[in-house]
Order: sequence, then C-alpha cells, then structure tokens
Amino acid sequence: MTKFVYTFGNTSAEGDASQADLLGGKGANLAEMAKLGLPVPPGFTITTDFCNEYFKNGGNFPDSLVNEVEKALSEVENIMDMKYGDPDSPLLVSCRSGARQSMPGMMETVLNVGLCPSTIPGLIKKTQNEWFVYDAYRRLIMMYSDVVMEKAEDIETASGQDIRIQLEDIMEDLKIDKGYESDTDLAVEDLKFLCEKFKEKILENFGKPFPDDPKDQLWGSIGAVFKSWHGKKANSYRKIEGIPDEWGTACTVMSMVFGNMGDTSATGVAFTRNPATGENKFYGEWLVNAQGEDVVAGYRTPNPLNDDTKNDQNKHLESLEQKMPEVYKELYEVRNNLEKHYSDMLDIEFTIQEKKLFMLQCRVGKRTGAAALNMAIEMLDEGMIDEKTCVTRIKPEQLDELLHPIVSPKAEAATSPVAKGLPAGPGGAAGQIVFTAEEAVKWYKEGKEVVLVREETNPEDVEGMRAASAILTAKGGMTSHAALVARGWGKCCIVGASMLEINASEKELKIGSKTYKEGDLFTLNGTKGLVYEGTLDMLDATENPNFKRFMEIVDKFRTMGVRTNSETIKDAKTALEHGAEGIGLFRTEHMFYGENSEKPLFLLRKMILSSTEDERRTALDELAPYVTRDIKETMEVMDGLPVTIRLLDPPLHEFIPHAKDKQEEVAKALNIDLEEVKRRGESLQESNPMMGHRGFRLGVTYPEITEMQIRGILEAAASMIKEGKNPKPEIMVPVTCDAKELVIAKEITDKVHEMVCSENGLEKIDFLFGTMIEIPRAALLAHEMAEVAEFFSFGTNDLTQMTFGFSRDDSDVFMGPYMDYEIIKNDPFQTLDKSGVGQLINYGVERGRKTRENIKIGICGEHGGDPASVEYCYEQGFDYVSCSPFRLPIARLAAAQAEIKSSSK
Ligand code: ADP
Ligand code: MG
Ligand code: MG
Repeated sequence: MTKFVYTFGNTSAEGDASQADLLGGKGANLAEMAKLGLPVPPGFTITTDFCNEYFKNGGNFPDSLVNEVEKALSEVENIMDMKYGDPDSPLLVSCRSGARQSMPGMMETVLNVGLCPSTIPGLIKKTQNEWFVYDAYRRLIMMYSDVVMEKAEDIETASGQDIRIQLEDIMEDLKIDKGYESDTDLAVEDLKFLCEKFKEKILENFGKPFPDDPKDQLWGSIGAVFKSWHGKKANSYRKIEGIPDEWGTACTVMSMVFGNMGDTSATGVAFTRNPATGENKFYGEWLVNAQGEDVVAGYRTPNPLNDDTKNDQNKHLESLEQKMPEVYKELYEVRNNLEKHYSDMLDIEFTIQEKKLFMLQCRVGKRTGAAALNMAIEMLDEGMIDEKTCVTRIKPEQLDELLHPIVSPKAEAATSPVAKGLPAGPGGAAGQIVFTAEEAVKWYKEGKEVVLVREETNPEDVEGMRAASAILTAKGGMTSHAALVARGWGKCCIVGASMLEINASEKELKIGSKTYKEGDLFTLNGTKGLVYEGTLDMLDATENPNFKRFMEIVDKFRTMGVRTNSETIKDAKTALEHGAEGIGLFRTEHMFYGENSEKPLFLLRKMILSSTEDERRTALDELAPYVTRDIKETMEVMDGLPVTIRLLDPPLHEFIPHAKDKQEEVAKALNIDLEEVKRRGESLQESNPMMGHRGFRLGVTYPEITEMQIRGILEAAASMIKEGKNPKPEIMVPVTCDAKELVIAKEITDKVHEMVCSENGLEKIDFLFGTMIEIPRAALLAHEMAEVAEFFSFGTNDLTQMTFGFSRDDSDVFMGPYMDYEIIKNDPFQTLDKSGVGQLINYGVERGRKTRENIKIGICGEHGGDPASVEYCYEQGFDYVSCSPFRLPIARLAAAQAEIKSSSK
C-alpha cells in the first residue's frame, strides 16, 4: 500500500529536501530543517500523490488515510505532550498547502485549528492568557470561514460579499466604536463578542454553522487544501506558468507555535541575503505579538530585522537585533547553517513564542536578476558553489531583466519624485496608470504600457500584474504579494508607497494635494522605490562588471554557437559586444527601408517596374554598387566571422511606389507615362503575398536579380580579400521547396564566382552555399536539399506559420481562445512548437545529415533567442542559434545550461 503520510519533528523526519515532488516544497524543507536539528514544530505531510488519489476518490478520505493521519498525529502529540481536541491540554495545528513550487492561488494556511468551546478553557488554563486564546479563536473563525467554507467550496455568500470582508468590517466597526487603533487594543470581552458575531454572520451566509468540533475542523481544512488545487486561481496560475495538473499539492499539518502571546512573542520573515540587490546581508522584517501573515498583510508596518534592513519607512521602529538580541543571535546562526547546507540564498519564516525561536518554513528565495547575478558571483568567490552551479543560478529570462533599461540618473537628478515606496522589483518603467487588473489587461491588449496602481495585490490580480509594465502599491512590505510576484518576474515594482490615496472606484489617485487620473503617465524607479510624474529617459543597465565575468564563465560551458540577426553596422557592433560569433541572418532587403534608402529604393523600383530584361539589367547595374557597399560594410565589422546573407525575400510589390511624386519619378526614369507605372504596379498585386511571388521564386523568374545579388556578395568579399581581410560569406537562398531551385541558384552562383574571381585576379573566394528551411516541403525533402546546400538555417517564423497554417500577423484574434481551450500550450511564435514544427526540424536535420554529414545547421527565426527553443536546438545538435543582438546573452546562457543539463544526465 502506498504511504501517504510523512512525519517530521524532534530532529528527525521521514522525508527530506530532495522530495519536493512528493511532499511539496514546504513539506520537504520542513523535513530537511528538522533533520538539521533546527527548532521545527513537529507535524506531518500528506503527499501530492494523495492529492491525485483524492480526486480519483471523488473527494473522499479512505480509511487507510484516516488511520495514517491518526497515527502521525499521535506521534506529534507525544512530542508536544499535548492532545488534539483534549479539553485539558489541547494541541492546536496549522494546515498548510504546498506544491512542488510555491504557487499563488493555492489554499491559504489555516492556523489555530482545533480551537473550539471544548478546548478553549483548557488552553486558557495552560497559557494563563485569555486574550491570546480568544485572539487565536477569532483568527481561526476568520480564516476557516474564508478559506475552507467559502473559497475551497467555490461558493458565493448569501450577500454576495466575501465573508472575510464582512467579518473584517464587523471588527473594524468595533474598533472605531471603541476608539482603538490596532487589533492588539481589543479587550478580551471584545474578542469574545466578535467571535459570537462572526459565527452568526457565518450561519447567515452559508446556512450552516462554523464547525466547533476539532475533528471537523481538521478534516475540513485538509480537504480544502486538496480542493484548492483545482480552484480557479490555481488553475489560472498553472496555465500561465505551464505547471501540469498532475503535480498536485501536498498538505502539511503541524503543531502551532504562537507569536501572539505578548511582548516576548513575535513572527517574522527573512532572506538570508538581500533579494533585491544580492548583497550578502541578512535581510528581514518582523512584528511583535503577531501571528502568521500579519507581517506580509500590510496592516501594520513591520519592524526591521536589523540595521541592514532599516530604510526610510521603518527606521524609527525597533529591530529584532535590538529588542531580543539573544533570539536574533540564534536566528543568525540558523541563517548561516541553512546557507551553508543549501549553498543558496533562502527565504525563511520564523516565529518566536515567549523568547523561544521556531522555524516554520525555508525555501530557495526568489530574487531579482541583478541579485541572482551578484549572489552567484559572490557565492562562487566564497567557495560556496562551483562555476557550473554558478552558471545554473540565473534563469536566462532573468538576464533579460539585467539588459532592461533603468531610469536615467541624469533625468532623475533633474526632477523630484512625487512618491516613495519600497524597491520591490528592479529597473525602470513608465506607463499610464490604471487601477484594476482588468483594466491593465485591457489596455495592454490595446498596445498600451500601463502601471498598475493598487492598494495591495492578491492572487486575483496576477494576470493584470503580468500585463503591466510596472506595479505600484500603497501597502505591503518587501515580502508582500506584489513584491514576491514582481521579483519572480523581474518586473519593475514599488510597494508600500503609503502617501498614495487610491480611489479605485473613481479611477483616481491623490498624492498630497495633487490628483491623478486613470491614463496619466508615471515613471517608476523600482531599484530605488521612487515614483515620478510623466516619462523619464531610460538607460542601458549592463554596466555591472559581474555581468561580464558571469558571461565569460557561461561561455566556458557553452558548446553550441551563437550568432546574431543583424544587417547594420550598428547592430553588428552591438552584437559583437554581446558575444555574437557571426551573423546568422543578414536580410538584404533592409537597405531599401529606413535611413539612406532613398536612392537604392528608387533604383529597385525602377527595376521592378521595368518590362524587359534589358530595362531590368540597366536598373540592376545601377543598383549593384549600393548592394556591394552595404554588404561589405557589415562583413567588415564581422571580419573573420561568418555572415549569412539572405537573397531578396519579400514579394516585389511591397516596394511599389504609391505616392504620386514617387510614381512620376520612376515614370520619368523609365521613359513611360504615369498610367503605365500604375498599371505595371497593379499587375504585381497578389491576393496572398505571403505565399506569393517572393524569395527564390523571383530568382527563377528573374535570374538577373539573383545574379546581381550574388555579384554584390562576392565582390564585397573580393575587395576585402584584396585589402588583406578575411570575409566569410554564406549565401542563403530563401523560400525554397525543392532541390531543383537550389541547383538553379547554385549554377548562377558558380558562374558569378568564376567571373568575379577572374575580374579580381583571385583564384577563389571562399563561401558557403545553403538554404533556409522554412517551407514544410523543404524539411521533408532535406536529403535532396542537402545534395546542394552546405548549410541549413531553419527559418522558424515561416516554418511555424506554414506548419500551423496560422498567419503570425493575424493570429492574435484566436490565439487567446486557443490557449484557453489548451489547443496550444504556448504561443508557437514565441516558443518553438516541439510536437509539430519540431518534428519537421528533427526530420530535416536527420535527413540533411544523412546526405551531407557535416552540413552546418542553424536557426534564424525569433526562436533563436527564446531559452526553451534554444535548448531544443541544442538537443537537435544544431551548430548555432541566431537571434537579435539584445537576446544574445540569453541565448548564450540557455545554450550553456542546455549543455550542463545534458552532460549531468
Ligand atoms: P504561505 O504559503 O502563504 O506562506 P504558510 O503555510 O507559510 O503560507 O503560512 C502562513 C503563515 O502562517 C506564515 O506566516 C507561517 O509562518 C504561519 N504558520 C504556519 N504554520 C504555523 C504554525 N504551525 N505555527 C505558527 N505559525 C504558522
Ligand atoms: Mg509561507
Ligand atoms: Mg521567411
């Protein structure tokens, strides 16, 4: 029979940290901490396996599980010398959910489970603290009704308003009535009164009473944990993060320790190092006489853990180091032990019950990209980790964040902030303010950049938070929901900006005497916690010397090449700085767009609108020097490195002049009238240009165009050779579907090669000849294509379009619903579709290599800069990936990590 319950406590445990899949992250790390001899209250974890079992069983608990739980509970009772549900010495427990990964949207923890009229007197007698017992009871009623009775059941209350809010309102009214400032001002009589009122409200709302029976409370809570796995929020989060349903959640039940037993009790959260900067300083927040989530809930501003944690918002508050130096010292030891044991930065939760320290959670801490980088390098230098581990410590996506802009310090110096909060997520961002997650999503879909402004955030806001460029909250500390989520994503975020007076229903924000409305522009400096009006200049953020060092280490492990998609001197230079080892895609048509394109574009138009080969050749001869110069400029920047030059790709009609003066210009040059220009232009129109007269199809109909381009490439190379340089052109034929096309293109190439050599007195010019594989048929006939092609470059943008039959430019209409129905999991234009497009690639590589063993294989679609796709290319044995200059560090890291992953298998 499968074992479903694992116990921990008293310096031993049945599981350990390696079993997060089975025990959930929380359960596994509690077991590990117990084994390390740290002060962990005893408890047990019901496995994720049981979660699946639970649903198979129609939401019932089999007897065998009930037995296992009872046995585990009695072990806990023995350690604690108390008994669950016992009137004299009642044990209370917490019931906590925990999946493999921490996941917003899962059931919130219920504390003080087991407290009810039959156990209250015993606990009062034992603790001699009536206030504490009733405070614990009112908390249990609030949490249980909210989490177990309402959310887990996914039901609406009778009044339509969340029970939690209704109960909080009752408490708030009482506090106002009595003139209390804080929850801790409530008297015992008030608490008793509240508990009764709460229970009435619950009965009124749910039509059933709050369960005042320890057994019901325990099993109700356990059931709620499992139910929450399939709750709305959890499902939505799993979809965003791509977490499979089969993982399931575990449920940990452990004995309570109390941070709310008076002035010598407290609760807190900490990071073993600063999660925003990576600095090697113990970092945390705590609250005296508090329980559970009080620290992160934002009702009270938490105290700093130590001097290092003091900031403008909390520097007037006493630190734990000052208030309880002994306990702080012990906690500091725990911190050192844990870091040494895990060799990583951890996020910990602790509670102090009457000066005694208890550890309630630890996990590898979320961090910003900047912190991840600095920590990885520092831990390497400290000898805590080796180079290989160092490379795995930063997610490729996090590098993106390091490459993201920051607010220009100059611009900041020239103005002053309108608000200040805690720096919860790095970098800078600007956008229009909106006040709800729904608006954020809506505006984002309209292509706007938004700053989501909220009192505080909760798991329901996740999609809006993702859509926003930055997040700003009035409440909450560095460990609040907004801060944790934003940090995980590396998104610019400021929390606890208490001077914001938000009126979400009026879509208004007041700061001091000034009022801002939805749509007003704000700039946030998430690294410093400063908020500015309007949009400020942004700067590149790669100054960090650790970044350079890290990338050097990365390259030690990387075996697959990285190239860039660039076609200008500027892009090519940037790409070299970011580690490009060549160009994987140079689009020749770029010279007809943008800066300095006037003259070549005119000549191209002249060529396109010619009606005879003679006319066309004349125009092409005039155009040729521009082509040669353009190619040479970039090849010179890349001297000694391969440059893949793609022959003309777009359909010709894209270049037809529509403005009258431009049409007249061409008419004059060709000696024809305006009407004729228009007529010739119209005759080039196509109803489906994506699949039209383009790519090498132009070379088949007008070989002189191909001839001119190849001449341009080889002449550029010849002139570089004569200057003593080392050009490495790779001629790439686009939009091919048959080897015969390549044979034709190769014949032209060989002929031009011979001519250019003899004209320049050269014996030969080294180049490679190859093709893009972007039409499914080309992949299927790769063995034939490889007879001619010396390299393949997978053009995965078009290959994806044609494999799916989706037009990339028009697919957003149905992409959303397609993902909702899980017809597709990820946008295939962002992350390579392994199951479909991947098969064509796999087939193409295999077939190609069969014909030509050393055929060079690369990718030049957008996917070349997407970490998961890079990993796939590595697995397929690609020689290189090519991506835009700014994605290069990401591609390098993804390639190195793919290598490390496969070599450690
Ligand atoms: P989350 O996953 O949302 O962090 P937790 O299970 O960690 O939820 O619990 C929420 C809060 O309750 C945390 O502050 C945690 O430290 C506290 N807590 C959980 N179990 C106990 C316990 N047995 N005794 C005291 N506090 C607890
Ligand atoms: Mg926690
Ligand atoms: Mg293409």
